[in-house]
Amino acid sequence: MIVSPRAAGDEVHATEVKNDLSLAFGSGLNDMIFRAEIQSRIAAILPRVKQPAQYIGGELHAVAKDHRSVRGTLCLAFPDTYTIGMSHHGLQVLYSLMNARDDWACERAFTPWVDMEEELRTASLPLTSLETATPLAEFDVLGFSLQYEIGSVNILTMLDLGGVPLRGEHRTLDDPLVIAGGPCAQNPEPLAPFIDVFITGDGEPSLPLLCDTWLEIRDELKRSIAGRNGNASRAAREEALLEIARRMPVAYVPRFYECLPSPGGRPGGVVPLHPDARETIEPSVIRDLESIPLLVTPIVPNIETVHDRIAIEIMRGCPWQCRFCQSTVIKRPLRIRSVETIVNAALESYHNTGFSEISLLSLSSSDYPHFAELITRLKEVFTPLGVNLSIPSLRVNEQLRSIAELLGNRRRSALTLAPEVARDDMREQIRKKIKNDDLYEGCRKAFENNFTRVKLYFMCGLPGEREIDLDGIIEMAETISRIGKEARGRYAQVTASVSNFVPKAHTPYQWSAMRQREYFQWAQRHLRRVVKNRSVSIKCHDVETSLLEGVVSRGDRRVGDAIELAWRRGARLDSWSELFNGDRWWQALADCGIDTDRLLHEPYALGDRLPWDHMNVKKGRPFLEKEHARAVAQLAKMGGNVAGSMEPVVV
Ligand code: SF4
Repeated sequence: MIVSPRAAGDEVHATEVKNDLSLAFGSGLNDMIFRAEIQSRIAAILPRVKQPAQYIGGELHAVAKDHRSVRGTLCLAFPDTYTIGMSHHGLQVLYSLMNARDDWACERAFTPWVDMEEELRTASLPLTSLETATPLAEFDVLGFSLQYEIGSVNILTMLDLGGVPLRGEHRTLDDPLVIAGGPCAQNPEPLAPFIDVFITGDGEPSLPLLCDTWLEIRDELKRSIAGRNGNASRAAREEALLEIARRMPVAYVPRFYECLPSPGGRPGGVVPLHPDARETIEPSVIRDLESIPLLVTPIVPNIETVHDRIAIEIMRGCPWQCRFCQSTVIKRPLRIRSVETIVNAALESYHNTGFSEISLLSLSSSDYPHFAELITRLKEVFTPLGVNLSIPSLRVNEQLRSIAELLGNRRRSALTLAPEVARDDMREQIRKKIKNDDLYEGCRKAFENNFTRVKLYFMCGLPGEREIDLDGIIEMAETISRIGKEARGRYAQVTASVSNFVPKAHTPYQWSAMRQREYFQWAQRHLRRVVKNRSVSIKCHDVETSLLEGVVSRGDRRVGDAIELAWRRGARLDSWSELFNGDRWWQALADCGIDTDRLLHEPYALGDRLPWDHMNVKKGRPFLEKEHARAVAQLAKMGGNVAGSMEPVVV
């Protein structure tokens, strides 16, 4: 059970803790003694929580600097548990980048599991960084990585336990700068009340620049208001944030903007409130990816995490433009690393970590221009060392036929592919240029080369989807299973993982409505009814979670009030199915007066202003409008033969 924070007002959990400790130690509390005391009190509660090792740090390549020897301190705060956060490559990259600087100390914090949260609250202890047991409130900058919409409440848990006022307007110059980036920052409005500055695009150039700029401005203002606090400190913080907005075209400071609901109360556009605030915010972009060194000393967790392996980013961006895909839009332009750089970094990482698997990261690895050469070189180097190679994002093209051979798999393993849809006209609609022949031949080669399982990713609820598209998913999965029988003498295990389509910001489908709850429920029942082959399993994403993902990814600032209300009512770690409670979210949204039906299920007109229009993307809105128009034309050709008795979705 969670011990809830107080029902209203600023949460000052950890600040109170520090005050308590100050009383215990006297007013001249020494930071080192303070942290040592916190560390020992946390150690005392660890025997009572699950996976205590996730809270102690001290892993290989973790960096703990003396704060007295640096100019600034940054805590990378991941709004999920340690096992999820430590598998996130971006966190490790930014951690290493900032710690490579002598003048900054970069540390980590993760959302505690509910048992640990309860223990911390009961013992009046703060959430601290893993490296030096520093309460989050003590850092100069607190940086959240926004990977998943449903994780929003975890940000509030971390702020509150860390002693940082939840809402930006309640913070003073003494509080950390709370910043956020990552895919969910593409529509920042729902989290705008809690975050001081959002950055989109590549974090490597913008994070250090933002951290330095904050220190410079804040310290100058601190000197100018010396001795005054309260209102003066809050006003000075406003001034500091405005100066960041003036100096950095990539920084979105939401307090200088307002959301204008469209007629009828649906989320509308966002406009500047201050003459110095820009109309649109640019994404941060690295032109030369090779100029940023690859990570070769990742932190090696002491406990099992989701991905225990070396991750090497071979390419950023994707040459394709599938209409549903937000990643390809926000990771533009396409940039690659050389084969030599990748192989050298992989070898160095192997020596530094001892991991027995290397994973090549990119949005679409088989589109890496020197793919065959890269795999051949990696196999030459790593096969003798017994290190396995994994390529999670294979695109289905003619190259797929040679990949299994190229990988020369000795272990029985799975091939993971994302056809997204099963029929050609629907592929044209979503603009995913793959052919079933390539897919089937690629799978046949994989079975001949010791692969035994195939995992397929599909989407359900796309604009114009028909019953035959759902049937196609099953046909495709069963065909692949049969190919397995032809190649290996027994039906192959095929898993079709079916997600519920959410029209995401900055995609050509951003004007589309999301399908209704009842449609997804019907489609999932239909898929399970149609499947005959017992070697084929269907895994459908939870409908409630997908709908909430839609609300948070498409909502405006009012959704932030509902996030806070859901959190105050006990919402915690909702991306974990055992903790997810959809009713609590829907009730909070209703109590905040948000019409989720209109927000989710009503399409926008092409000329409407959208809540994320002010966050610019490469190629911009004109490209999305053109693609949207093409999608509408293709949909008209496909006809209105939609699934079951459900309403068609108008794109
Ligand atoms: S190939 Fe994959 S990453 Fe590239 S645009 Fe299509 S879905 Fe997105």
